[in-house]
Amino acid sequence: MYAEIIVDIASEMVDRVFTYLVPDGMELEPGMRVRVPFGPREKEGFVIRLKETADYDEKKIKPILEALEDYPAVLPQLMELAFEIREKSHCPLCEALRLMLPAEMRGGRIKIKTQEFVQLLIPQDRIEEAIQSQKRSRKRQLLLTLLSDRQPHPMDELKEMVKDPRDAIQYLADREMVRVFEQEALRAPYYGRIDAPKDPVLTPEQTEALEELLPALRTAHKPFLLHGVTGSGKTEVYIRLVRHALSQGKGAIILVPEIVLTPQMINWFRSRFGNVMAVLHSRLSPGERFDEWRRIRHGDARIVIGARSAVFAPVEKLGVVIVDEEHEQTYLSDHFPQYDTREIAASRGRREGAAVVFASATPSIYSYAMTRRGDYTLIEMPHRVLLRPLPKVHLVDMRQELRMGNHGIFSGLLKQKLEDCVANDRQAMLFINRRGYASAITCRKCGEAIKCSRCDVSMTFHSVDQTLRCHYCGEIRPLPRLCPSCQSPYIRPMGIGTQKVEEELNRLFPGAGVIRMDVDTTAHKNAHFELVDRFRAGQAKILLGTQMIAKGLDFPQVTLVGAVMADLTLNFPDYRAPERTFQLLVQVAGRAGRGENPGDVVIQTYQPDHYVLKGAAAQDYRAFFASEFARRKADLYPPFTMMARFLCEGKAMEEALATAEAIRERVQKDFSGTPLFRRILFIRADEAPITRIQGRARAHVLLKLLNHPDTDRLLARFQEIAGEEYPVRVLFEINPASLA
Ligand code: ADP
Ligand code: ZN
Ligand code: ZN
Repeated sequence: MYAEIIVDIASEMVDRVFTYLVPDGMELEPGMRVRVPFGPREKEGFVIRLKETADYDEKKIKPILEALEDYPAVLPQLMELAFEIREKSHCPLCEALRLMLPAEMRGGRIKIKTQEFVQLLIPQDRIEEAIQSQKRSRKRQLLLTLLSDRQPHPMDELKEMVKDPRDAIQYLADREMVRVFEQEALRAPYYGRIDAPKDPVLTPEQTEALEELLPALRTAHKPFLLHGVTGSGKTEVYIRLVRHALSQGKGAIILVPEIVLTPQMINWFRSRFGNVMAVLHSRLSPGERFDEWRRIRHGDARIVIGARSAVFAPVEKLGVVIVDEEHEQTYLSDHFPQYDTREIAASRGRREGAAVVFASATPSIYSYAMTRRGDYTLIEMPHRVLLRPLPKVHLVDMRQELRMGNHGIFSGLLKQKLEDCVANDRQAMLFINRRGYASAITCRKCGEAIKCSRCDVSMTFHSVDQTLRCHYCGEIRPLPRLCPSCQSPYIRPMGIGTQKVEEELNRLFPGAGVIRMDVDTTAHKNAHFELVDRFRAGQAKILLGTQMIAKGLDFPQVTLVGAVMADLTLNFPDYRAPERTFQLLVQVAGRAGRGENPGDVVIQTYQPDHYVLKGAAAQDYRAFFASEFARRKADLYPPFTMMARFLCEGKAMEEALATAEAIRERVQKDFSGTPLFRRILFIRADEAPITRIQGRARAHVLLKLLNHPDTDRLLARFQEIAGEEYPVRVLFEINPASLA
């Protein structure tokens, strides 16, 4: 017997199968991982196919050394998916296969962490007698008492309660009163307090949505787009759908943009489904992630909640894939090989006969356009549960405030409403999409902002430790006393960030309690969950944060939401800036009035007449979609076209730019005159909007391409071109998450 093996080396050169001999007695299946000799070394590989005969000199064929597990680490359906990803992303197969496994499985066999346990062996009715018999040792008596529930107790736990228990335990073990054993330690991560509603009676909209979705568990269907306004009860629909899948013996994958932002989803699912649920995300320790992966692979966990990479979870009989907040950018992977989680979900749905549900209160322009074309089925939930009204949104023109002499952070209206809220013992959430104290430290004399030495961005002032920080590379510098450009002492913070707002809130509302949630306050592992718990418990009246607090959270006591500077994201140099701003504002607004008391939202802006602000204020997705769709069509942006770029990063800008220029010329030379060239609507080599990140100069060749069946061939060629040798690093990106 022979096996075709993909060796786990990420190189175009070895992106083909190698034939190995299967030694007698070794049982292999496609998808299993093996160790094989490769040149002078040993490598890991994946079994692709088994065959009876080898197609060349059998004497030269080397035997497989060992199987790394006794089951296929990659399920057959995921193996097929890997082939598809290779085609689409133009990457070596082994790169695609790596996506299917937790990173810690590579590089040899996993060390499974074990833990020592102690368990009582004495029958229930003789425990008391046994405790009496150990009168000569307080320690042994205490241990027997602790163990009297006859459950296994981790040794570490006993050590916390009894000082140096080992000798005493040994004594008891020698007399066969207890046993000591090693067991796999499955580590259980923390997700905050479980606080979940019991099964409510479904609303008519939830019932209707479910009736449309259920048939897709049994027969093939187009993907669904569930457009439900904030607070329409989408989670409950997911829960019922998943429960149906389970009852048919199938599993489910629920994807969320970022686990730490959606602790409630985990808790609600956990309280309904308990241990058949597994959670996969990047904040797990490697051991935790591997534990969860194994529970899924062995079928102990059949429901998986996770961030984008969970779309590859080895759920064997997949019934449904749900992509919550499907409009989020985090679903586009930014590492090689690039993939769009939503495409993978749809592909698994087709391949494995699972229902695919994309859901959002603010669907991506792309997905909504797909419903217009009839490629997705649209399901709408236009109302909140229990006839709760959507919050009332007030747009405040901050230019007007300035004219009236208000130079503060808060408009008169927002301040007034905050006062009311605090006085009436309700809670408020304030959103500003910038962390730190001020956006920049600027010199009043020469006008320069202090920039990071390694990135072309202004550094942000953090008042807590009086430092300047770069949010791109993490560089930290003490605040200088003089302007680095002109030596003047007139350097001042400009603009505002979360820390500045926090300071102002504490000044205006002493005693109200302010919790700040941003990258800086949530650095340690469980900080998110703890801050959310504290706010929910009412330990603070005001939750202030970056986009971290914009979505997913459900605090029934919150009646007021404020967007302090709504325009921040609107001015980004990206064609998606309007879409993102609209989504963010509607999501933020959606945090208000989710409980019994109706909500109020105050959006502070300098552009109250902009269609994005107007659409967000009216919370009118369709109106926004119509304007945005028309704009994309007129300006030929996706979904009417495709954006792509070669990103060139090097030490010096001249080098990066020269490479970009060379690639542009090469593309023009290779394709001009061919029919493929007509698919290129636009090509330009230029400095990237952010010219330097982490000390590397950045240039790019920006391309706008027509959507056409041919374009795929063009992309494959571009990928090849990017793979050639250059003086600087070149990366080819298709519809990248960021064009900056
Ligand atoms: P969405 O994700 O659509 O914004 P959620 O799923 O967070 O909405 O639900 C909003 C709130 O409504 C939650 O507090 C949830 O417990 C509650 N809820 C959901 N369905 C029902 C129902 N059928 N009856 C009563 N309350 C419900
Ligand atoms: Zn200066
Ligand atoms: Zn930097």
